[in-house]
Amino acid sequence: MKWLIGVLVLLAAFCGLAWYAVLDGAAPAQADDEFDLAAYRELLVTDAPETLPTEVRVEFVGADPAPSLATEAGAFGGERMMTYTAFQIAGPGGAVVIDGAVDADTVAQMTDGSGQFCADCYQRLVDATAQAAHVLITHEHIDHVMSIARHPSPDTIAPHLRLTRSQLDGLPQHASGGVLAPAIANAPPADFTTPQRIAPGVVAHAAPGHTPGTIVIFVRTQTREYLLVGDIVWVMSSIENLRGRPRFITWMIPEVDPDRPAVLRQIRALHDMAETDPELVILPSHDDGYLRQRIAEGALVEGFVTQ
Ligand SMILES: [Zn+2]
Ligand SMILES: [Zn+2]
Repeated sequence: MKWLIGVLVLLAAFCGLAWYAVLDGAAPAQADDEFDLAAYRELLVTDAPETLPTEVRVEFVGADPAPSLATEAGAFGGERMMTYTAFQIAGPGGAVVIDGAVDADTVAQMTDGSGQFCADCYQRLVDATAQAAHVLITHEHIDHVMSIARHPSPDTIAPHLRLTRSQLDGLPQHASGGVLAPAIANAPPADFTTPQRIAPGVVAHAAPGHTPGTIVIFVRTQTREYLLVGDIVWVMSSIENLRGRPRFITWMIPEVDPDRPAVLRQIRALHDMAETDPELVILPSHDDGYLRQRIAEGALVEGFVTQ
């Protein structure tokens, strides 16, 4: 009998651990003050309509499928295509480029050579970054920074960088040879602790959790509003289902979600925002299927424009 109790205890412990590691990612029932859409809109209230951005563009630089269960806690069922992207907010006053995606070496390293990479797309991103009025990143992870950390003309892009201290501190490890170009390393840090207007129709606001330097970017174009949320979620269904990443991912990759409770609060806030503001276009960085749906609907345009 004793052995049976032992087996049952072990089984219960195993089930508990499996639940904790794989299934549990529930967002809290309530989260206030995570994002302040009213404050973002207020910062843009005096922007004349003709100065606002005209469109939001996306560049699909690379891709690699991931098991569904690794992207969202408890999401059984096949694979999700995870894409590596950057965004371009195009407008009459010049473009704002958001994120630096991955270069060929990074994709090969991250995917053991199995990932897709679009060299023309990466080149357009490099060119657009050099031509942008402002360059931002959603956060300092390896798959969001390469066209900045490894840009061939650091002196050209440095005056246009709007990166926070945490973001700048995360860049050297991704530079070629581990040494960041002095112009980029010495760029003055931005502070988005409170929401800041970057350009007509564009606001940045700190949202630490997924990384210390994570920010969200609110965009008002002449026709729509957007919120770029980086990797707060990897897939849009995380927001719909109120489930964050599984814990085992954060154990395997400790740089992911160092403040997991903050990420789960943000997911709750985004879920509620999607209900109260259904016209707002929420853009996570990696959800290939969801981003392509937004393209099909006309809310997003594929491919950057360069001069
Ligand atoms: Zn990412
Ligand atoms: Zn990330």
